Amino acid sequence: MNSLDSHIETVLWTPDQITSRVYELAAEISADLSHLSEPPVLVGVATGAFLFLADLARHIRLPVAVDFIRAESYGCGTESNGAPKISSDLKLDVAGRHVVLVEDIVDSGSTLSCLIAHLESKGASSVSVSTFLDKPSRRKVHFKLLGKGKFYRGFECPDSFVVGYGMDFAELYRNLPYVGVLKPEHYKCQSP
Ligand code: 5GP
Ligand code: MG
Ligand code: MG
Repeated sequence: MNSLDSHIETVLWTPDQITSRVYELAAEISADLSHLSEPPVLVGVATGAFLFLADLARHIRLPVAVDFIRAESYGCGTESNGAPKISSDLKLDVAGRHVVLVEDIVDSGSTLSCLIAHLESKGASSVSVSTFLDKPSRRKVHFKLLGKGKFYRGFECPDSFVVGYGMDFAELYRNLPYVGVLKPEHYKCQSP
């Protein structure tokens, strides 16, 4: 066991489980979007969605555009610190396009709600959400998808703070190829 793995208390999803579920999601999304007249835009929510977006995109059997957006509400803790802000916007023009927002995890729902409103203000014709994990028990904001958008999720996540497969604690652990829960002694904020 190397020192990175030794920080993990429990593994919730292994690399094999992740690969097969992401493949299923990509097949579902490809089938649902195959009728569109213009290629959809996959919008990854940085930084957490970077691995999920990369795996999902390479299995979608349609021409798609890819862009990133950044929304921040987390500091160095495990609880959201209020209303999210868009700190880095899209490069592409999404007016009249179907957007698939690609997220690592939906928790309170406030980030998604902010992002959907933002995409609506930019004239997206519809917005679907593909989130790798979903914690419905923690929902505080009930976001509404735009147009004929659908909600896709990889797995339902228990109410614990998870890391890996793109998800961080204090910007670490994103590079784990699986999703797990840290040992309690590693959930400590370091001073910057
Ligand atoms: P929300 O706005 O839905 O409360 O939170 C959204 C963002 O918070 C997620 O996209 C993710 O970046 C972060 N987040 C929520 N729950 C977790 C978690 O269990 N682990 C990690 N690493 N990030 C989380
Ligand atoms: Mg995220
Ligand atoms: Mg984070």
